[in-house]
Amino acid sequence: MALSGLDIYKNLPKTNCKKCGFPTCLAFAMALAGKKTELSKCPDVSEQAKQLLESASLPPMATITIGEGDRKVEVGGETVLFRHEKTFFHPTAIAVSISDNEQNLSAKIERIKKLNFERVGMMVGVDMIAVKNETNNAEKFASVSKELSEKTGLPLVLISENPVAIDEALKNLSQKRPLIYCANEKNSEQMTALAKKYNIPLCVCGKNIEETAALSQKVSSAGVKDIVLDLSCRDVSKCVQDFTQARRFALKKNFRPLGYPLIAFANDAFEASTYIVKYAGVLVVEMDKVEEILPLVTLRLNIYTDPQKPIMMEPKLYSIGTPDDKSPLLVTTNFSLTFFTVSPEIENSKIPAWLLVCDAEGMSVLTAWAADKFNAEIVDTWMKKTEVANKVSHKKIIIPGYVSVMSGKLEDTTGWQVLVGPKEASGIPKYLKTVWKQNG
Ligand code: SF4
Repeated sequence: MALSGLDIYKNLPKTNCKKCGFPTCLAFAMALAGKKTELSKCPDVSEQAKQLLESASLPPMATITIGEGDRKVEVGGETVLFRHEKTFFHPTAIAVSISDNEQNLSAKIERIKKLNFERVGMMVGVDMIAVKNETNNAEKFASVSKELSEKTGLPLVLISENPVAIDEALKNLSQKRPLIYCANEKNSEQMTALAKKYNIPLCVCGKNIEETAALSQKVSSAGVKDIVLDLSCRDVSKCVQDFTQARRFALKKNFRPLGYPLIAFANDAFEASTYIVKYAGVLVVEMDKVEEILPLVTLRLNIYTDPQKPIMMEPKLYSIGTPDDKSPLLVTTNFSLTFFTVSPEIENSKIPAWLLVCDAEGMSVLTAWAADKFNAEIVDTWMKKTEVANKVSHKKIIIPGYVSVMSGKLEDTTGWQVLVGPKEASGIPKYLKTVWKQNG
């Protein structure tokens, strides 16, 4: 159970030595109760108190790693119920479901490999494959799982209630850290033993939220720390209710048995999008077409971006088409929406160009100008950093029309001729075809 700030305070040294960075032990205790600091920040806490306070210092929801290397995914670790309170940290991991009885496995693998997309400068797509043991044949399950792992490089969810089949698959895949699904009331001891033997995450599945919590407690007490919960709800409205309740218990009541990420299963886009919003850590989908997956990963991107941080482009010199030293040079800020508004308009002009993207902390042109994050000195700095003088010979730079006021200072600072471009990106094609052709 969660400890209050006063409960924690009673177990601290009470010397107010400030080594933890807080002015008093009481301030530290209150911060620890609110999960805003860690117990390890107090070097003087006794071993006895450490054990007592351990639950207060643990995060309310564990972060679980599935897979290994570049393709590993982290789920859970959330600290708020609503995105606007802070942010969500670990996007729902989407796993495409495949049967070990799949007749055309190669075609399926090729389709999955195409489920990766570029959105606002980021690569997004499916994260895992969930292999279902529908043949009831351990060798077949193991060989299909191995092939999927090798050919896609994606982490796996091994779906079988048969510990023999899971064990067979793990003989080849234990180093890949798959998620075992699932431990239930009948097989929990064998599944727990496998999770411990291979040190991999285990999904527990009770008949309802209470049974799942009891099973999670049992498995955790047996030594498995990486747990995912299946609350066994398959109806969307019941799932939303149970998922919300589990999240509330974990975050607000610090109820450890439910302090793990949840797994959900979706047959269609409606179910899948509902679970992405509330509150699946792992989502197994019966879908593998681009038109089904793209909306899901786009929704996920919207839900899991930090509302306090704009999506940014890497500040650098971008080439659009195949520009040369006589091609126009335009400048803008690194707000991704600005970039993806400006760059297609340059492409529309059919005139290859350079686009200098300056670091303006992800703000749009006018906002950055007002905040003094996009001015003559900053443009000059990025011109130097990107060595743009080595790319173009004409020494002319086109600035957005909204910041025409910086043109004089930019000319003085850089010695380049400053051309004032259109205010709106939609005016770029006409501008390049007329004004640039005459003055460039
Ligand atoms: S370091 Fe420990 S003893 Fe010192 S003020 Fe912080 S909580 Fe108190």
